Amino acid sequence: MYREDISGRLAFVSGASAGIGEAAARMLASNGVNLILAARRIERLESLKNQLEKEYDVKINIIKLDFSKTEDIVKAVDSIENKNIDILINNAGLALGKDLYYNNSLEDALQMVRVNCEGLIVLTRLLMPYILKSKYGHIVNLSSTAADEAYSGGAIYCATKSFVEMFGDSIRVELIDKPVKVTNIKPGAVNTEFSTVRFKGDKEKADNVYKGFIPLYAEDIADNIEYVLTRRSHVQISSMTIMAENQGSATIIHRDNK
Ligand code: NAP
Repeated sequence: MYREDISGRLAFVSGASAGIGEAAARMLASNGVNLILAARRIERLESLKNQLEKEYDVKINIIKLDFSKTEDIVKAVDSIENKNIDILINNAGLALGKDLYYNNSLEDALQMVRVNCEGLIVLTRLLMPYILKSKYGHIVNLSSTAADEAYSGGAIYCATKSFVEMFGDSIRVELIDKPVKVTNIKPGAVNTEFSTVRFKGDKEKADNVYKGFIPLYAEDIADNIEYVLTRRSHVQISSMTIMAENQGSATIIHRDNK
């Protein structure tokens, strides 16, 4: 099998304090990739950094950062000493609420737009000059099956993921003459803190999302990210959709209710 060695590269992972971002950070460190990890929960990043630096021969920088605040992203990127980033994993994101759009909180709607869309494009814009200097540039965006399939209660979340999708597809076109790949990763249901955040800590509602079938886990998505990052230099995976075996689309899941 053709597999590119990515050791020694530098990756920025947004939202590395939990779920897919954390699993991606572990996968990258195990491949010898140096890391810049950002999220609000700095204590989680601290402990991840300590674990990974002990286990692997990698250097890890951590940044406490709220991706809903543009000025904070600008300051944080400015403060990074070595910005020679090869890989950007645009992962920080969230859904808030699942009520009908006109009943859901407007503040929650705006927060999804700020983090999932604004935060992502601001970070990408600021890091782009450095990624363009890399011989192995790669931008991986966490999109979703929700980008392609509207569902009731998902008006803003689905719209933000469609935004991510179109943004990724457009910059891929803009970058065709540069050594920078762009991949949209589109998972279905992944059992992370995602639903606990969506339902504001309501554990029962969150657990119900993953009941009666084996969902994806964060490590499955990290495995897909590893695949797209380790293809030969001329191979660009533009998009990858991943679902649990019992999931047929964003909203159709076969559940064993026995
Ligand atoms: P998760 O376990 O809730 O992790 C979300 C990560 O995003 C955390 O590290 C969180 O860090 C960070 N984040 C959220 N708001 C932030 C903010 N304002 N500033 C900085 N960081 C912020 O969820 P996940 O499932 O891993 O989700 C990761 C990505 O995958 C998201 O973009 C999500 O839309 C996408 N996705 C998830 C699923 C799924 O079923 N789980 C499916 C498709 C796509 P802090 O809270 O520490 O800041």
